[in-house]
Amino acid sequence: MYIAFGAKGALAWRASKRYSAPMRSDEHEPEAFANLHAPWRMEYIRLLSGSGDGCFLCHARDDAAHEAENLVLWRTAKCIVLMNRFPYAGGHLLISPLEHVGELGQVPPETLTEMMALASDSTAVLAKVLRAEGFNIGLNIGRCAGAGLPGHLHLHVVPRWNNDTNFMAVLGDVRVIPQALEELRQHLLQEGLRMKRPKALYEP
Ligand SMILES: [Zn+2]
Repeated sequence: MYIAFGAKGALAWRASKRYSAPMRSDEHEPEAFANLHAPWRMEYIRLLSGSGDGCFLCHARDDAAHEAENLVLWRTAKCIVLMNRFPYAGGHLLISPLEHVGELGQVPPETLTEMMALASDSTAVLAKVLRAEGFNIGLNIGRCAGAGLPGHLHLHVVPRWNNDTNFMAVLGDVRVIPQALEELRQHLLQEGLRMKRPKALYEP
């Protein structure tokens, strides 16, 4: 089963399940009404719309002095790994090429290889730190596929656990308090150091 990420993807999934799953009490709330109760969504929408600081991945790439604020975990020769500020689950990571490119065909093969190696390294560290028992790893290419930031490709790595029966869309767009993100970031950084992952940082 392919799982779409992003606000649009979550909505699409809910729509597809409408006849087979119990309806959530808020499913008929107009978007504006939902926003009234979730002001942090305005930040989410602002980030997705490309307004404000523009592409948050390019911003993180160019703003190396603020790794914690930008939730950056690792930088390699061709990629950057960040924590998702609006995670579907704790430890939801994003792996992105340094270049602002939105299509797979624009990403050089060696960069694609590095992205997959980083996905592997990320799962190893997440399994250790969060005792993750499974993972959803995927790309959303284009807005219709649920990409929140269609201009800059990014690979989602979402940890899963046995018996985490709630579909991740239930958690989608939830704002996690910055302190919790930073605490987890520190754990991931320390475990990465201990495990010597990502390998790209330790093996020439
Ligand atoms: Zn970008």
